[in-house]
Amino acid sequence: MNIETIAIHEGNKIDQSTGAVIQPITLSTTFERDHSGDFPSGFAYTRADNPNRKSLENLVAKLENGTDACAFSSGNAAGGAVFQALEPGSHIIAPNDMYHGLRALINTVYVGVLTVDYIDFSDLESVNAAIKPETRLIWVETPSNPLLKVTDIKAIVNIAREHNILICCDNTFATPVFQRPFELGADLVMHSSTKYFGGHSDVLGGILITRTKNDFWEKIRNIQVLAGAVPSPFDCYMIIRGIKTLPYRMRGHAANAHRIANYLASHSRIERVYYPGLPDHPGHNIAKSQMIQFGAMLSFTVKGDSEDARGVLNKLHLFTRATSLGGVESLIEHRASVEGPDTKTPFNLLRVSVGLENIEDLLADLAQALKI
Ligand SMILES: *Cc1c(COP(=O)(O)O)cnc(C)c1O
Repeated sequence: MNIETIAIHEGNKIDQSTGAVIQPITLSTTFERDHSGDFPSGFAYTRADNPNRKSLENLVAKLENGTDACAFSSGNAAGGAVFQALEPGSHIIAPNDMYHGLRALINTVYVGVLTVDYIDFSDLESVNAAIKPETRLIWVETPSNPLLKVTDIKAIVNIAREHNILICCDNTFATPVFQRPFELGADLVMHSSTKYFGGHSDVLGGILITRTKNDFWEKIRNIQVLAGAVPSPFDCYMIIRGIKTLPYRMRGHAANAHRIANYLASHSRIERVYYPGLPDHPGHNIAKSQMIQFGAMLSFTVKGDSEDARGVLNKLHLFTRATSLGGVESLIEHRASVEGPDTKTPFNLLRVSVGLENIEDLLADLAQALKI
């Protein structure tokens, strides 16, 4: 099956008792045993498993072409389960522009338990040089945030293979519609379902997918079920509903983003546009070889300082000033303020999550906001 068909059918079960075409939300926390004491439905207690969560996990495992998935209550809970599954004393290599929430999780919660080096992944030599005997995980995030840097997944896989190191790829920005980490050799894929999967900025969630079921995956399943950071049945329903239109939404998002990137790149007030689809982007060729399309996140710097960038931000009407991404509405934010005082993000940089509004309306809004 192709991805549009998987997105619509693999997360749904027609209800046998009512004939409901859309799988109902099963709110019951507990499930009846038969006379022999077994659970004929396979469900016992909803922290352990739930019909809506099972459908979501089946759907996302198929979308990523993996063998199994574990759904969590947030992207950070999903990423955190990978860190928690590592033996104490393990070493992680992560990108120096890793999603700031996961970086904060490692640095605050896992301090003293795990060690980590943050490396520039565009320099493969320095990734290689960071490997220690206790390195167990290389965390990949591509394209990254907010400079849209592109990591060569295959090259990182080749480095990791020699040393028996796990590779987990945060595929939130690209989604399986545009990037297939398992086909490039990754072991685990992670998503914040809060973003493009949900797609409407109204549900929080995260999910991990594995290429093969092994002991490490068994540990992650135990962390999900026993630590219990599981999504509610309603949240699972919402994410499944969002994913049905994911392939079509992603095409619209990417087409709009490409037009906006080209428009900004030729505007006299813009210093630089960060979008992997532009030929002058340093990661363009790698992105072209490992992605199907270039996604819908982009950043740009306005000539001048933070005030000039904020001036543009505050004149926009259709782009909402808010963090996060992946919803149908366009969002824009002054990224340095979100990341705090130790940020390396340029102060004149604005990050955009390009939505699905009509492109002419978005371009007109940008044009009026950039007029001096
Ligand atoms: C949002 C995000 C996360 C964290 O997900 P939450 O659902 O907010 O916990 C992780 N990685 C990336 C790339 C993200 O954008």
